[in-house]
Amino acid sequence: MTNFVGGRFLETGRTFTKTSPVDGSVVGQVHEADATTVDEAVRAARAALDGPWGRSSVPERAALLRRIATRVEERFDDLVRAESADTGKPLHLARTLDVARAAANFRAFADTVAAHGMDSFLTELPDGRRALNYAYDKPLGVVAVIVPWNLPLLLLTWKVAPALACGNAVVVKPSEETPSSAALLAEIMAEAGVPDGVFNVVHGFGPGSAGEFLTTHPGIDGVTFTGESATGSAIMRAVAPRVRPVSFELGGKNAALVFADADLERTVDGLARSVFTNTGQVCLCTERVYVQRPVYDEVAAALAKRAAELRPGRPEDPDTTFGPLISTGHREKVRSYYDLAVREGARVLTGGGVPDLGEDLAGGAWIEPTLWTGLTNTDRVVREEIFGPAAALIPFDDEDEAVRLANDTEYGLAAAVWTSDLERAHRVAQRMRVGLSWVNTWFLRELRAPFGGAGLSGIGREGGTHSLHFYRQPTNVCVQL
Ligand code: NAD
Repeated sequence: MTNFVGGRFLETGRTFTKTSPVDGSVVGQVHEADATTVDEAVRAARAALDGPWGRSSVPERAALLRRIATRVEERFDDLVRAESADTGKPLHLARTLDVARAAANFRAFADTVAAHGMDSFLTELPDGRRALNYAYDKPLGVVAVIVPWNLPLLLLTWKVAPALACGNAVVVKPSEETPSSAALLAEIMAEAGVPDGVFNVVHGFGPGSAGEFLTTHPGIDGVTFTGESATGSAIMRAVAPRVRPVSFELGGKNAALVFADADLERTVDGLARSVFTNTGQVCLCTERVYVQRPVYDEVAAALAKRAAELRPGRPEDPDTTFGPLISTGHREKVRSYYDLAVREGARVLTGGGVPDLGEDLAGGAWIEPTLWTGLTNTDRVVREEIFGPAAALIPFDDEDEAVRLANDTEYGLAAAVWTSDLERAHRVAQRMRVGLSWVNTWFLRELRAPFGGAGLSGIGREGGTHSLHFYRQPTNVCVQL
């Protein structure tokens, strides 16, 4: 896999090996961008902004985004295979979630930008002077786009689509764990007619590699980043000397609140999805399940049964419902939390270890879906993001206690409220200190709605016109009449 700079596929002197989390086999060699390659990418982006792209119209860019979406759909199967090869996720998940959303992202932002107007004000001063004020939107400029490995193409296109819609040029740094779909997207961009230098890809790691070279480059005008909160903090420090704006989607430690009046079958179904989808590697996944005492045992038993029904296996096997973690390194982190939970006094309801899936999958990053009881909000496993298929079930007595427990976290990304009481549903959803509260559902996304987090979970909002706010720089023009 090569870098993509100024419309050219670039090899560098140094490569790293991407391996499969399914069985440890080699997926491919990736050309790591050095400081010179990153510099060339930033310069190519700047040159594109200084050329015809910088004068492109909104209808032209909306049409381009739609062409990209069509090309994504034409190369759908290639992208599904690439995404699954890197992450080990079941093919049907890559198909229905990751790649479908990539195409939808381009269409959604084509619509959003085409419908977006500008502010204007007629000024009438007491001395009789009158003026027309309007906000003329310019692109932010060269935008560094840094994304993680859990939903690689979905999260990458969620940023690239609005950035291009607003006329920016981007330098994308995909995760070192998931270079394949970004490499394919570069081909798609070229095929769709994206001008040279508007979309660039540099591969590599964070510190001492492409990530750091990009965020410390004086030529970037802003950073949009999705990943761990600690990395967000490091990127803030990197851009602080030049005071560049950031948009951050960071970690989560999301709560589900299950009230005794909930439809329990539907609730357990939703909980199983929210704890185990993508092997728990979605920022929105539930890691804390607060259950009202009268239904606690019933919910715990039903959820444990659902965990036991998950089928680990190869991504191409249609019976597979549960993939591996992204890497054996990440599995060590998750497993250390499994061990810590026991030391903190957890009762392991199900899972808790590494499964034996036979010699064929022995080199993979497999882990068991896991549920604990007996923990409290003071335990580290209930406070820190694990980013694996694991949750603690904790009982509560009344609504106020549930809200207090759910909000007792430094994170603030998402919450899910499960109840049949309409007034309680709205009341509790609004009291959650998060960017997104679901009621009787999970991961149902509206791409025009604001998406983001409070506290350690991020800065800013993405989605619809909220994304445009980051990727545009309004200039106020004041004309005396
Ligand atoms: P990560 O922070 O380790 O890496 C994310 C990206 O940043 C990668 O491309 C990595 O190479 C790069 N990077 C790492 N250090 C860097 C540095 N110092 N400078 C510049 N770039 C650097 O995150 P991850 O492990 O890839 O992803 C998992 C995390 O992402 C979890 O915390 C999860 O909650 C979060 N996440 C959040 C959202 C959201 O929308 N809020 C969505 C998905 C994932």
